[in-house]
Amino acid sequence: VTDAGVTVDAAVLSADVGGTATGVGVVTAAGEVRFASETPTLADGSATGLEPLLDRLAAARARAAAAGLAVVGCGIGVPGPVDAAAGRIGPDVQNLPGLAGCPLAELVTARLGLPTVIDNDVNALTLGEARFGAARGLRSFVLLALGTGVGGGIYLDGELWRGASGYGGELGHVTVELEGRPCVCGSRGCLKAYVAGPDIEAQAREALAARPESRLAAMGGALTARDVFEAARAGDAVAAGVVDRVCRALGAGLGGILNGLNPEAIVLTGGVAQSVEAHLTDVLTWTRAYALAGAYRAATVIVAPHSKATAIRGAAALFFHEMDRRGRRRVRQ
Ligand SMILES: [Zn+2]
Repeated sequence: VTDAGVTVDAAVLSADVGGTATGVGVVTAAGEVRFASETPTLADGSATGLEPLLDRLAAARARAAAAGLAVVGCGIGVPGPVDAAAGRIGPDVQNLPGLAGCPLAELVTARLGLPTVIDNDVNALTLGEARFGAARGLRSFVLLALGTGVGGGIYLDGELWRGASGYGGELGHVTVELEGRPCVCGSRGCLKAYVAGPDIEAQAREALAARPESRLAAMGGALTARDVFEAARAGDAVAAGVVDRVCRALGAGLGGILNGLNPEAIVLTGGVAQSVEAHLTDVLTWTRAYALAGAYRAATVIVAPHSKATAIRGAAALFFHEMDRRGRRRVRQ
């Protein structure tokens, strides 16, 4: 309640900076996404790249204030490694080379006067599911974001596990095949090399070389991972073979996660996860084959909806989570 007697609700400015598009919104403490919008990312990292983002955040704050929301901070997710403690984008961010090393949190605070938390977008999604989504109330879960790449988030005892040097959660690069497909990371046989969208498309093209009679051949260069799943459901043998391989690789990956961490749940999200959902029984059959029985029985595998709103909600959860963490630390002192 303000001096004027107007009730205000706490809210956070939120941005999900993607490789191609950036979403900005306002998220209430209850996880409701308000005033969300999306524009192409200007990734050169110079003033022309950052200024529009800062302008949009400022405009979102003005709209929030007009709606009676009290903006208490800002959360931003970016697609790549982040030094979360320093509020700085990592030096080797691949999708946004122009923003490498950018002290983004400091720049937002300087412009808007708001405390700002930034982190990797999959860590943001993980906290978003923990606070507002499919993993609410869980003490331990692992999130796998299956899309153009495969990202992971590990949530243990109510906290994100970032690892000893920030690589915790890189579950897309766990080996599921010793002599397997080459991976962008330089290794081979990684989970990502089987279940990421572009890798599903590549496996379909490779299979088509030997079986050109498949209906997938007609799609030529426009073939997408979603087409492969649809063709498999329609009875195409080549597509079904690729989807079987995807389900088996994912089952092996989930089995490794269950055996290593024994979480209460694994949350699958992202564009490919929505396609995989129709094949979840097959994935779980392989998961059970690769996991220890006790770890398998303890866990639920959940497919969580994936949208621009869940990404914006996740970036806001970064801020809410950080405030909670600081609060806990103060209580302990
Ligand atoms: Zn890899």
